[in-house]
Amino acid sequence: MPFVLRNPAFFIPVLTYHQIATAPPKGAVFRSLYVTPTAFARQMGLLKRLGYRGLSMSALMPYLRGEQCARVCGITLDDGYANHLSCALPALQSNGFTATCYAVSQRLGQTNDWDSAVGVAPAPLMDANQLRQWVAGGQEVGAHTRHHPHLSQLSDADSTREISACKSELEEAVQAPVRHFCYPYGDYGPQHVGIVKRAGFDSATTTVRSRCQIADDLWQLPRVPVVRSTTLALLWIKLATSYEDRHRCLSHRFQLA
Ligand SMILES: [Zn+2]
Repeated sequence: MPFVLRNPAFFIPVLTYHQIATAPPKGAVFRSLYVTPTAFARQMGLLKRLGYRGLSMSALMPYLRGEQCARVCGITLDDGYANHLSCALPALQSNGFTATCYAVSQRLGQTNDWDSAVGVAPAPLMDANQLRQWVAGGQEVGAHTRHHPHLSQLSDADSTREISACKSELEEAVQAPVRHFCYPYGDYGPQHVGIVKRAGFDSATTTVRSRCQIADDLWQLPRVPVVRSTTLALLWIKLATSYEDRHRCLSHRFQLA
């Protein structure tokens, strides 16, 4: 069955990016998570030509809450790589877009060492000064915990510290509010949704694949992954059709009372 095309204003894709850089050689771990700066710039250009406004999570909130309606999409970049500042920011700015970069507060200026056990090459992360440049460039910093743990493997007390202290540490670093959270590895339980809400975050994103709809839980938002193999044609399909939404029913999200 062909994927269904519906009014795009009622479906809000929140794009997920990781590294904006040339991919390492064939066989490298997580090679698919690299999008080249050229491809990223072309993708931002396509969004613009299709009439989408690319928005940070803060700017997207009125649309997710159903208070406003337009052809918008969220742009999120996970982990706070230095290449977000050097390679993604120019394309965002030239299209008048904003994005949210989720940073790991105890790894600023270091590398993504949480992935070293599975053989991922270390990549530099933005330090506090670079995060401030990101914010000064019109972009937003979101929270991605203090150390990028699997939250489901932590006690509630440790999870609370990872989530709440990340917010205050990043706010101190960037001198700006940090109002949006992203679960590392998309690994969370119902208790973490409560912790994120109590910490004062306005939204949280997951790795569940789908476009967002108005009725979605703002603290368990699905996203649309963009990876190395995502062509412009496939990006259009992901944005404008039900291609990604079919994953929604396969994924588990927690119902909170
Ligand atoms: Zn991450």
